[in-house]
Amino acid sequence: MSEAAPDPTALADLLAGDVAHHLHPFTDPRELRRRAPRMIVRGEGVRIWDAQGHEILDAMSGLWCVGLGHGRRDLADAAHQQLRRLAYYNTFFHTTTPQAAELARELTALAPGDMDRVFFTEGGSTANDTMVRMVRRYWELQGQPRRRVLIARRNGYHGSTLAAASLGGMADMHAQGGLPLPDFEHIEQPHQLALGLPGETGQEFALRAAGWLEQRIADIGPERVAAFVMEPVQGAGGVIVPPAGYAREIQRICRRHDVLLVSDEVICGFGRLGHWFGCQHPHIDIQPDLITFAKGVTSGYLPLGGVLVGRRVGDALALHGGEFEHGFTYSGHPACCAVALAALRALRTEGVLEHVRERAQQRLHAGFAGLARHPLAGDAAGLGMTAALMLWRDKARREPFPAEAQVGLRCREACFDAGVVMRAVGSRMIVAPPLVSTESEIDEMCRRIGLALDRTRDGLRADGWL
Ligand code: PMP
Repeated sequence: MSEAAPDPTALADLLAGDVAHHLHPFTDPRELRRRAPRMIVRGEGVRIWDAQGHEILDAMSGLWCVGLGHGRRDLADAAHQQLRRLAYYNTFFHTTTPQAAELARELTALAPGDMDRVFFTEGGSTANDTMVRMVRRYWELQGQPRRRVLIARRNGYHGSTLAAASLGGMADMHAQGGLPLPDFEHIEQPHQLALGLPGETGQEFALRAAGWLEQRIADIGPERVAAFVMEPVQGAGGVIVPPAGYAREIQRICRRHDVLLVSDEVICGFGRLGHWFGCQHPHIDIQPDLITFAKGVTSGYLPLGGVLVGRRVGDALALHGGEFEHGFTYSGHPACCAVALAALRALRTEGVLEHVRERAQQRLHAGFAGLARHPLAGDAAGLGMTAALMLWRDKARREPFPAEAQVGLRCREACFDAGVVMRAVGSRMIVAPPLVSTESEIDEMCRRIGLALDRTRDGLRADGWL
């Protein structure tokens, strides 16, 4: 189905206004002035349409969030009904709403281990900021106020607020505005393709990479370390899947030094890896002290995030902490909670996690194994409904393209032109399709990516890069 053709004058006017007045996240405004943004106007299932009526397969689930696909009546109706009944009330100062209360009960019932409390935020960044304040408060209550340092990983992404951006390990973000803030430290990521030694097995690399944490804790002094924070699979860093055994070893190290372990499940939660939480995937298999989440909890239909808190920290805060001097106007927003309840119901009743585990993830990874045979691409990786490919100038020698070739951006644009959304992280191409993608939709995404790889190669040849 395609959209009715837009009025070209009205569209040109809208786009001109966007370029002139809209400061976009993570976008170079010079690029926008050279070429107006694509305007996306409609979505249905795994498909979106732009203002010119082009149909595009949304293999990134929006921004990793639209797990249940676009255009669902049940989620829209949940929001609509709640907005009419009670559009807003807060959860400060001794009040709550039925939707916030019910969602707190549902989420803590789903959460692994003894996580029986949740704090609601507006998204993933504020979930991570909240988590930072919680763990520091926890250590104050334990009489160890010097335990303030949070350790995370290079190329991890935890959000764009000051604490979340400090926690993240993105060099380009830190280069602007004097980040990270004090008491945020980073270790290398468990990325064997980039950091493995010749002849090193996955298991050896897993132990060596986890050992970087133990070394850093020793350097800082365990008495100063509050928590270690990791994504089960690093998403925005390029879908970096740690080798088997890495996460378990990280957990052992945290326990040995009494450091809290936090799993940032903003991407990996709610079915992305085929389980309610990414830490439950057998390849990860850890029991964190806290989980931060957002995105998939509402399938992106309305903004909501939060922190799930295990008993150790939760009891300290709730029984001994007094008032927690923290909160957001939209913490527990009733319409967002109503949509989350509807999304959880859909994930449960439609067997979405089973679909990911039993069908969709195999199809996706088989498709990417096929794409890795393309002369331009190799080293397919992924877990659950995430997948990545590297683009190489010389695949046999793993020779990368120079940065000026902008190979990732070329491929991203070629994908859009071929009717599929793929994201570029340097010269690593990544996807995270809707969890509900059928096998034939996944095959079609891969077919279009294959076409885009051909066209990217043609363009690189024409410009003398190959
Ligand atoms: N953590 C992770 C792992 C993320 O991927 C993101 C967003 N992509 C965030 C936190 C930040 O979430 P938000 O953009 O909702 O603030």
